[in-house]
Amino acid sequence: EERERNASLTGPGQTADGVAVPLLQNVGGAKDLTPDGAGVGLFRTEFLFLGRTSAPPVAEQETAYRELFEVAGDRKVVLRTLDAGADKPLPFLGLAAEDNPALGVRGLRTSRVDPSVLAEQLEAVARAATATSADVWVMAPMVATAEEAAEFAALVYKAGLRTAGVMIEVPAAALKARQILAEVDFVSLGTNDLSQYTMAADRMNGELADLLDPWQPAVLELVALVASAGQELSKPVGVCGESAGDPLLACVYAGMGITTLSMSAPSVAAVRASLASRTSAECRRLAELALAAPTAESARKAVAEA
Ligand code: PEP
Ligand code: MG
Repeated sequence: EERERNASLTGPGQTADGVAVPLLQNVGGAKDLTPDGAGVGLFRTEFLFLGRTSAPPVAEQETAYRELFEVAGDRKVVLRTLDAGADKPLPFLGLAAEDNPALGVRGLRTSRVDPSVLAEQLEAVARAATATSADVWVMAPMVATAEEAAEFAALVYKAGLRTAGVMIEVPAAALKARQILAEVDFVSLGTNDLSQYTMAADRMNGELADLLDPWQPAVLELVALVASAGQELSKPVGVCGESAGDPLLACVYAGMGITTLSMSAPSVAAVRASLASRTSAECRRLAELALAAPTAESARKAVAEA
């Protein structure tokens, strides 16, 4: 507790023995980014597209992206390409109604229907990135296979951007993290959707909250698998789901080898203090305890008591 109290209120995210775990922010636009933290770990770009009958012009997108990149200065910004689907209807995509929208033409899959939307978005991102000094990384949502990851990375590089990654939020992608990482520069775990798809529990259904818990053993095991793949290939593996803002889970993730954590701005201070109060060896021990627990509840309890 004392170490936690003494932990600096600003500055880099790191364990008590100085192992860096950069703390990034999840944002939906320039107004959300605060000076605290190492930059943006998830820039959700849906806001530009929702409620429109035609895709926003490249110039309009460029202006919006540039606004955030300018606020970021020379910090990192991980921009996520459009994560739309039949549950967030975008009339210009011409998507058919689906019985199971969460399992349908969502995220990167929408480019099967109309590849021009993604191509234009990448063009706008590349233009905005060139005009600023932000360190711009681009990632795709809802990737299930290494083949999709490779195709996306090729488009990112073709647009003139340097750093391509994908979100790991489908269990198939977590299981094949090594193959996916071989195709891209980084991955970021979206634990909101990873919990939903691993536990087959709708993330909008409050009655299933116990199943959607990111402390569920199956979800923790998948996160650990992806972290190990990243260590093997020496490539960054972040977490950008809400769970990264849980101060105890953040230490568990660091102990598994997760390299960056991205969360909403109000969570940054508590996660920083929690990391600063534990050594990297202690974090590894917490990860072992969490992974050995038979239930979400016992994992949480074992880590809290340790
Ligand atoms: C996630 O799924 O964890 C995530 C970060 O993306 P979103 O919540 O926007 O689906
Ligand atoms: Mg998601």
